Amino acid sequence: MALAPAFVAANGGPGRPAPVERPSVAVASPDLSAASSQASKAAVAAGSLALVLGSRTKATRRSRKAVVVPTRTTRPAVPSGVYCEAAEKCERRKTRTVYVGEVPVGSEHPIATQTMTTTLTSDVDATVEQIKKCADMGIDIVRITVQGMKEAKACEGIKKKLLEDGYKTPIVADIHFTPKVALVCADFVDKVRVNPGNFTEGRKSFDTIDELSEEDVKEAQAAIEEALTPLVLKLKEQNKAMRIGVNHGSLSERILFQYGDSPEGMVASAIEFGEVCRKHDFHNFIFSMKSSNPQVMVNAYRQLAREMYKLGWDYPLHLGVTEAGGGADGRIKSAVGIGALLLDGLGDTIRVSLTEDPEFEAKPCVALRGVAEQALGKGVEPFEEKTDRRKGVFYRRECTWPIDVPLNQDGSVFARMPVKELASLDTAQMCDRLGLRLRADGDVQKDWKSVDVVVLDGMVTPNVGVKLKTLMDVPTGVICKAGPNVPDGATIMVSCDDGAAGEKMTERLGGYAMVFNGEESEDTMLAALNNVSPRLVMLKPTAAKGRTFIARRFFEKLRQCESSVPAMLWYEYPKEDGKDQDDVVVEASADFGSLFVDGMGEGLLWDAEELSPDMLRESSFNLLQASRMRISKTEFISCPSCGRTLFNLQETTAKIQERTGHLPGVRVAIMGCIVNGPGEMADADFGYVGSGVGKIDLYVKYDVVKRGIPSENAVEALVDLIKENGRWTEPAEAEDVEAEVGAVAVL
Ligand code: SF4
Repeated sequence: MALAPAFVAANGGPGRPAPVERPSVAVASPDLSAASSQASKAAVAAGSLALVLGSRTKATRRSRKAVVVPTRTTRPAVPSGVYCEAAEKCERRKTRTVYVGEVPVGSEHPIATQTMTTTLTSDVDATVEQIKKCADMGIDIVRITVQGMKEAKACEGIKKKLLEDGYKTPIVADIHFTPKVALVCADFVDKVRVNPGNFTEGRKSFDTIDELSEEDVKEAQAAIEEALTPLVLKLKEQNKAMRIGVNHGSLSERILFQYGDSPEGMVASAIEFGEVCRKHDFHNFIFSMKSSNPQVMVNAYRQLAREMYKLGWDYPLHLGVTEAGGGADGRIKSAVGIGALLLDGLGDTIRVSLTEDPEFEAKPCVALRGVAEQALGKGVEPFEEKTDRRKGVFYRRECTWPIDVPLNQDGSVFARMPVKELASLDTAQMCDRLGLRLRADGDVQKDWKSVDVVVLDGMVTPNVGVKLKTLMDVPTGVICKAGPNVPDGATIMVSCDDGAAGEKMTERLGGYAMVFNGEESEDTMLAALNNVSPRLVMLKPTAAKGRTFIARRFFEKLRQCESSVPAMLWYEYPKEDGKDQDDVVVEASADFGSLFVDGMGEGLLWDAEELSPDMLRESSFNLLQASRMRISKTEFISCPSCGRTLFNLQETTAKIQERTGHLPGVRVAIMGCIVNGPGEMADADFGYVGSGVGKIDLYVKYDVVKRGIPSENAVEALVDLIKENGRWTEPAEAEDVEAEVGAVAVL
């Protein structure tokens, strides 16, 4: 099976590997395999999601046919957003209400927050205590893992004790592989989550065949119906809910045959289960389409929403990014994916999945709900987007990159600095502020996480002019206002209005950077772009809300102006009462991420009073990495842990991060169990998976290569494996680090 090409590009910093070329033209869903692309075309041609047949070899694909799945609902007109209600403003997608216990989920209600326990479900007291803690932190719904009959029966005690303690928090049973267990626990819980990838069809069940016939597909679908129907009928009878929870990393082998490892396969899998529910007139269900890759996840949810509009279905959506990790990384990754969808009006219940205790998921969840609530109704006047973005086609702008401004083609990080501040810093402090290395011999160098361009606030003084020269020699870009002390080669900042009103500017080294507020007319933009011929442009909207829509309109106008100038997003977040650092990180990640996942924006200037310069710089790099643009460090995909976890996930993740965190471009998955771990590792290069108490299996991609390693030796065994596969580089020597001032701060 051809796997999706990783949509990553390496940083092209000094002494680093050459940058991997990014696609610069329109490509359909970047992570799709050839098979899925064909499936997509077939589906589009059929006007609905098609049944696609597949085979293991290209030569035998001639047997593939497309058959339209019949629908039972009158199709309404697809809205202007195509996958959402409106393209120009945030408007929630209309859904029915699904009750999970007493919590209503749907577009007529506030977005419900969720988390999942990490205790052993069989330990009733511990699980109850954790659920209560989560509820007290603002979580509306809590999921628990139910892997067998022991846990299914424990659900009765958990529910009973919660009610005795005055907690009506609905509980959701998480089921994998075990339809019989689902039937038992359905008596005690408020909702059952099933994973279409493994409810009936194990990942390996199609290993022995080379081709897939229409009969094979029908047989598999009949097996799904047979296994799912008793649960559907029971939930219907008890007026309980179901989540059809598809995961990108655990699609069934049969779906992989048909659609490849793709969002189309995820949608097809969800629709098949939805059809069974509908056949029995059961409509109390919710869909989810999770992935550890926010770009794939956004694409999958949009495709499902698009398909539901076509089918006339109105089921709510549960949003989440799986295996997002912990700390700032996990929050940013989740906010990019979940936030982008919420700003489009998609999503009725959310989970921020972190490798931390579940109560810590409440804060970012509530912050994301706040982002969605504040964005509601905000946007711009309707405008025409003359691309196929809304239909699911991914575009990345083809830019003309300047040779005299050191932008990074994978995504640039800008930092704003007042002239007064730069004047007060010595060289070591300046390097520290911008993430540069100051070597013992006085040489200043770029690092993986050095700021690319500094934007100066205020008039340049003679003393600052000298410092700017030092920066430009690194090379770090400098953007400032015109003035007598500005060194040659610095980029001069001009506004769009000034550019449009003035004469044609003379050509100069470093050129000009033009600032737009997003409200300019196309004529004004065209005049300004012609007069100034800027090296880059910066979009700095004056409105704090609706930035996603202002930016989409701006990029459409740039396209109309036939401009290929790189465009940076410059967003300001002033201090606000009641908002702390976490809130700002979540809000900004949603704002920037909602554009980056659509290939809009070649970099960012994240300006927030609440965050320190170090945190802003680090978070900017994290955001570019979460958006699959610029990879500046090892990517960790760690499961949030649950009752199945076989080792201390938080401690082990921290150890692995410490040992392997210096390997940009390498993806390491840390998964608590072999039940779901290998399937959920998605596109990781190396996997560290709990296979028994005190035992670890190691993977290279999807293949297990070392089994049953005692956990005390497993981290070093993982390091050896990375070395054996040629992906290891030694971290900077201790003495080098001591000699370098301004090492990158790690959050
Ligand atoms: S991979 Fe992690 S979260 Fe998923 S079932 Fe296993 S232990 Fe639980």
